[in-house]
Amino acid sequence: MPVTVAELVMHGDRLLRPSESSRLDAELLLAKVLDRDRLVLYRESEFEVAPPERARFDKLLGERAAGRPVAQLLGEAEFWSLPFFIDADVLVPRPETELLVDTVLERIPGSGGGAMVTDLGTGSGVIAVVVGLERPEATIIAIDRCGSALRTARKNCIRHGISGVHLLRADWLHGLHTTHFDIIVSNPPYVAADDLLLSSSDIRFEPKLALVGGSDGFAAFRAIVSQAPAYLKPGGLLCVEHGYHQGSQLRRLFHNHGFRQIATKCDLAGLERVTLGQKDSRRA
Ligand code: GLN
Repeated sequence: MPVTVAELVMHGDRLLRPSESSRLDAELLLAKVLDRDRLVLYRESEFEVAPPERARFDKLLGERAAGRPVAQLLGEAEFWSLPFFIDADVLVPRPETELLVDTVLERIPGSGGGAMVTDLGTGSGVIAVVVGLERPEATIIAIDRCGSALRTARKNCIRHGISGVHLLRADWLHGLHTTHFDIIVSNPPYVAADDLLLSSSDIRFEPKLALVGGSDGFAAFRAIVSQAPAYLKPGGLLCVEHGYHQGSQLRRLFHNHGFRQIATKCDLAGLERVTLGQKDSRRA
């Protein structure tokens, strides 16, 4: 029977294999149960862990082994090197979404004074919060149709002391009064309903509402790209994250809705990941 910190980590590591992050996950989960920083576990490796904590650790290991993302079990995930609250109603932030944030920040000079930005389908709010931190004078409207996600986004705004983010429950841009955005950004659901990815281990625990973009994965894109011109300033930017195989169809969609300067950026894996386009500056 494993009893000490070191033994429990070893036991967890073994149980969670062949996951690549088995040891790290075991350490993170034990650290959570013991309410310690993960690295402190190394100093306390010979400490004995009491039965109730061992039982809690075992329960978490069981859930992790069944595929629940470690971020959901911890209630937390890292994005842009910052901690964010996460639960089962929001996506676990992905590193590739940092490219989307980067793209937005490139377009907002200085501290963002006067810039109007909206983040559609904000989820846990990571995009809105990071833009708010990096461009503290920008006005950001973070929209989601899921009330529970908005509550998490609010907690993340408070956690990071953000005051320039306004949270709003809506269906994309529908019904919004502001029609002069400089930037509309979104990481919408873009997985096709029959994509096998949805039944793969970790992802099946994540909210379908945040993942599935209708039967072909493009339902949210069609809504966003068609609504966006009416809500952007002339010359304003629409910028979305998408799947690696969706770039060409998305560029066509942008083009069909009158966008100019359409471009796609690749993520660190060299895959098409972010497409952007500008509203024609001659269009009011
Ligand atoms: N990138 C996510 C994935 O790996 C999908 C995120 C989304 O649909 N917005 O499945």
